[in-house]
Amino acid sequence: MKNNIWDVIVIGGGPAGMMAAGRAAELGRSILLLEKNQDLGKKLLMTGGGRCNLMNNKKSIRELALSYKGSDQFLMSAFSQFDAVKTLEFFNSRGMKTKEEEYGRIFPISDRSQTVLNVMEKYMEKGGVEIKTKAAVKGVSFDKENKIFTVQLKNGEVFNARSCVVATGGISHPETGSSGEGFDWLEKMGHKIIKTDASLVPVAIKDGWVKKVAGLTLNDIKLTVFLDGKKQFIQKGKILFTHFGISGPTVLNMSKDIGELLHSGEVIIKLDLFPGLDLGALKNDLQKILVAESNKKIKNSLSALVPVALVPEILEMAKIDGETADHSVRHEDRMKLVKYMKEITMRVEGLLGPDKAIVSSGGVALDEVNFKTMESRVVPRLFIVGDTLNINRPSGGYSLQLCWTTGYIAGSNA
Ligand SMILES: Cc1cc2nc3c(=O)[nH]c(=O)nc-3n(C[C@H](O)[C@H](O)[C@H](O)COP(=O)(O)OP(=O)(O)OC[C@H]3O[C@@H](n4cnc5c(N)ncnc54)[C@H](O)[C@@H]3O)c2cc1C
Repeated sequence: MKNNIWDVIVIGGGPAGMMAAGRAAELGRSILLLEKNQDLGKKLLMTGGGRCNLMNNKKSIRELALSYKGSDQFLMSAFSQFDAVKTLEFFNSRGMKTKEEEYGRIFPISDRSQTVLNVMEKYMEKGGVEIKTKAAVKGVSFDKENKIFTVQLKNGEVFNARSCVVATGGISHPETGSSGEGFDWLEKMGHKIIKTDASLVPVAIKDGWVKKVAGLTLNDIKLTVFLDGKKQFIQKGKILFTHFGISGPTVLNMSKDIGELLHSGEVIIKLDLFPGLDLGALKNDLQKILVAESNKKIKNSLSALVPVALVPEILEMAKIDGETADHSVRHEDRMKLVKYMKEITMRVEGLLGPDKAIVSSGGVALDEVNFKTMESRVVPRLFIVGDTLNINRPSGGYSLQLCWTTGYIAGSNA
């Protein structure tokens, strides 16, 4: 630091800010990282249920960029500098072993987000980043003449720098520190902020039976979404029932579209537990079970086809007494059972709020940032990274990939 002026001030000690700070320090710059919490990476520690799905194993840059619908043209140049392959190398070469799970999701082999945070903290320590926690930034301004940023803390302290990286995140889970304050300063400095809202977020369901099966996970099922009775779109994958409704990667990825439909009318989701079987084939499977176990009760036999927790719910929907012996289940009741196994209806109540979202949509308009450097096109030497950017992405490690990539590029150029 010369004359009390830092080369770079990074605001926000989440994954994007830590990557930017570590990289800039590695290149020999003097770096001050300001974080309002007592500790760094509070949200990072929550990721992937505490296991941290840090990226997705998309080896092709193009395929990776195309995963971010609508932002791919911006991200191509960013990923061509720091893609998934380089991200994996970054962590593996720092002693963090990783493993791949279904859908290409990469986790630390330790199954602990703390391992990822440790790598980032060591990276910054090695480069000599000065970290100031409990340092809540109140505002940032840029002196155009002297080309100096002034960063003011809420406690009145003031710091100056030649470059500033804003890594204050979005608005999801504000208790982790991401309360959207960065958007106010960026707006004041002339940036356009696209309205923020919850994006990858669980879906609340009106039907009471859903709560009764909380904790149940169904794999390889089909979800069909209807608006006022008209089919809208279909997704296949995995669903998790919770005490308020449904969640899991497939549901999170549908949530933005469901949210938009909710503005126009009533949304229902139909669940097909056997997308690979038509009604006839499923009826044959059921028949075989009922014949083989003809003296058993239907409530016990049905679990050969569906998870135990769902049996009473399906019987209830079909209005069949679970005590009925298999041989006494009438033909029309068998048809009803088959129908409900292929078409369980759930009425959507709404989306949970930003506090329960994985990421928020909205943020800094992408045409106002140069993705070759992550520098603002509005304010020179201002860099914008991570969740502060208006980039929609699916669940599966894509959010953190954005942090690693945009943080690394900003750190290389700040
Ligand atoms: C429950 C949950 C699970 C998730 N799981 C995954 C997953 O498995 N994989 C994945 O890819 N993504 C996941 N995400 C998303 C991922 O956590 C975010 O995309 C990521 O944390 C964004 O990083 P960031 O550095 O941009 O911002 P953040 O992590 O939000 O960090 C911003 C930091 O800025 C600080 N800050 C804010 N305002 C100020 C201020 N005024 N002064 C000083 N500091 C300030 C905050 O305290 C915070 O530490 C998950 C999110 C949640 C909520």
